[in-house]
Amino acid sequence: MIDLRSDTVTKPTEEMRRAAYEAEVGDDVYGEDPTIQKLEKEAARILGKEEALFVTSGTQGNQIAVLTHTQPGNEILLETNSHIFYYESGAVAAFAGVQTRTITGTNGEMDPYEIEAAIRTEDQHFPETGLICLENTHNRAGGAVVSPENMQAIHAIAKKHSIPVHVDGARLFNAVAATGRGVREFTDHCDTVQICLSKGLGAPIGSIIAGDHHFIGKARKWRKRLGGGLRQAGVIAAPGLVALTKMRERLWEDHEKARRLKETLQLCKGVEVINEVDTNIIVADISGTGMKAEQFVDDLEKKGVLAVTFGPTLVRFTTHFDVTMDNIEEVSRILKENF
Ligand SMILES: *Cc1c(COP(=O)(O)O)cnc(C)c1O
Repeated sequence: MIDLRSDTVTKPTEEMRRAAYEAEVGDDVYGEDPTIQKLEKEAARILGKEEALFVTSGTQGNQIAVLTHTQPGNEILLETNSHIFYYESGAVAAFAGVQTRTITGTNGEMDPYEIEAAIRTEDQHFPETGLICLENTHNRAGGAVVSPENMQAIHAIAKKHSIPVHVDGARLFNAVAATGRGVREFTDHCDTVQICLSKGLGAPIGSIIAGDHHFIGKARKWRKRLGGGLRQAGVIAAPGLVALTKMRERLWEDHEKARRLKETLQLCKGVEVINEVDTNIIVADISGTGMKAEQFVDDLEKKGVLAVTFGPTLVRFTTHFDVTMDNIEEVSRILKENF
């Protein structure tokens, strides 16, 4: 099987497994795990924030950020197709008790003017705008890069209104790799950021949230409340450290593979690639084949290729560390034979 469902399917490398085996550990709830401390310190340095906190998943990291920044009854602004709105099981309503106000972006970028217009004024009828969430790269926009300029414009408005900005950067390093711009050109324009170690970076488990000292202090408490305080967590921090320090440099390879696959898909009858393919995600509208996405995906599976449905006639392909360029050539051959 050639698995293009997600970049979450990567298996830990030899080096990651060895690092887990050899990790120096302690009880992290007591603040005594040296490997966790090393990972958090390195992550804070790379992301250009005062402190960082290891969390078990991207969803947990995003939810802790929302819980830490907001009060129940607040309204948060976020993109219509953002992960926090679309894919986190309604957690912001269930846990933080906030309501969402969505703004539809273009290729993942929200218009700063629309954001400013959506910020609530002081009025007893209104909820307070408690947080603005951005997503970079934007998953449902097809791994689209949100430019530092767009982030900067939104952050400037947020600062003017004293509203924090959180970035869901599950794939932030893909944005870095795709643009050649520095990590901090992105992270300077937010108060807090979440990055996934387990997506393109290939770690088996874990995410990082980063922000200032005050934020991380409060976030640590929310993590504990949610059952995310871990004990000898060094065994998972060690592969995370390998992911963070050694796997960022190769993300461009995944983008190359995605571009190659895009070329093939564009030649297939009835298939239309609908995103720019900035990074490692390709979204294809397959309605021209007369099939529904589910049937298309089922048929591909029978031929040895896994993809996911992304709408009634949309299919998403994601490249990653565990698919080689040869695998992509094989997928291209299968697609050409059938479409
Ligand atoms: C995967 C993903 C998350 C959530 O990460 P999990 O570790 O799966 O909980 C959050 N945001 C985006 C944009 C993602 O792609």
